[in-house]
Amino acid sequence: MVLVVLGVVALTYYTTVVLVYGPAALDDRDNNNNAAGAWVVLAIYHVLIVMTLWSYFACVLTDPGRVPPGWAPPPEDEEDERVRTSNSEKRRRFCRKCTAWKPERSHHCSVCGRCVLKMDHHCVWVASCVGAYNYKHFILFLLYTFAACVFDAVALASTFVSYWADVHDGSHREKTDEEKMTMAAVFVTFFVDVAFAASLLGFIVMHANLNFSNMTTIEMYEKKKARSTLPWRYDRGKRKNFTEVFGTTIALWFLPLHSAHQMRRLLDVSRLSGGSYPRMVEDGLDPIAPVSVAGDPPRGSRGDDGEELAACGLCVGSRGGGVVVGKKSGGRSRDA
Ligand SMILES: [Zn+2]
Ligand SMILES: [Zn+2]
Repeated sequence: MVLVVLGVVALTYYTTVVLVYGPAALDDRDNNNNAAGAWVVLAIYHVLIVMTLWSYFACVLTDPGRVPPGWAPPPEDEEDERVRTSNSEKRRRFCRKCTAWKPERSHHCSVCGRCVLKMDHHCVWVASCVGAYNYKHFILFLLYTFAACVFDAVALASTFVSYWADVHDGSHREKTDEEKMTMAAVFVTFFVDVAFAASLLGFIVMHANLNFSNMTTIEMYEKKKARSTLPWRYDRGKRKNFTEVFGTTIALWFLPLHSAHQMRRLLDVSRLSGGSYPRMVEDGLDPIAPVSVAGDPPRGSRGDDGEELAACGLCVGSRGGGVVVGKKSGGRSRDA
């Protein structure tokens, strides 16, 4: 899938830069306005492509989040009365595959073969899980890809207009084979752009909603499955939900990077603070504090060992992307 993504980028780059706007920018027979316009298109296009590739590789190469070795939830007798008195609200969760405890927003990914912090879904397009550390990069990848596709489609559409303009203004001439080949490539690339942009749009809306309500894709399916109408337990308001993923530094919202401060917050919102592990203080977490960032203690959760395979929309039908949240084998539901 990584090669598919790179192939699509290569196709659009070849058509837009090598075939159409590169020659237009260097064409000194034309009037200066056309060449200047071509340079502007090339500049914007390159910025969008660089940001798309940067976000993409940041998402692919960033570890989505491991449960720190030795992490353990608080002993049961230290849990609050509400949690202790109800089995259905038991918080401690154990992964039998990893033979380790897992924090409440973590899930075991059968493709990656381990538990992932605040797992969103396993995405075949990035050949990795999307979790606490790379969710922001994933959303930026969607946004920059969408922007690049829309911009490229508009830029290429304008070449259709000039290609056939001479039919209308009476200066029609037979096109050379080279011009016909270029226009065929423009045509194909235009439709690839439109197809990608259209399929990404619904997906972007879905993840914007999830992000603003502090919910992962897995949690969305879980909530639907449980037919829960209760207020979402991690929802702290749109602004706080957004900064939980994107950080509070506005300049970094647009870049697939996390500040050191944000990295600590991401550990915290992955609900590690409710438990403890050997390197906790070094990671900047308070071993005494219960959950300090993400609001109220959870209502749900149970000691399950289920695998999670949620779909991200684009992944539907692919390995790692079944829409059912449940155990992979046999489609059995997670322990409820
Ligand atoms: Zn696991
Ligand atoms: Zn995975």
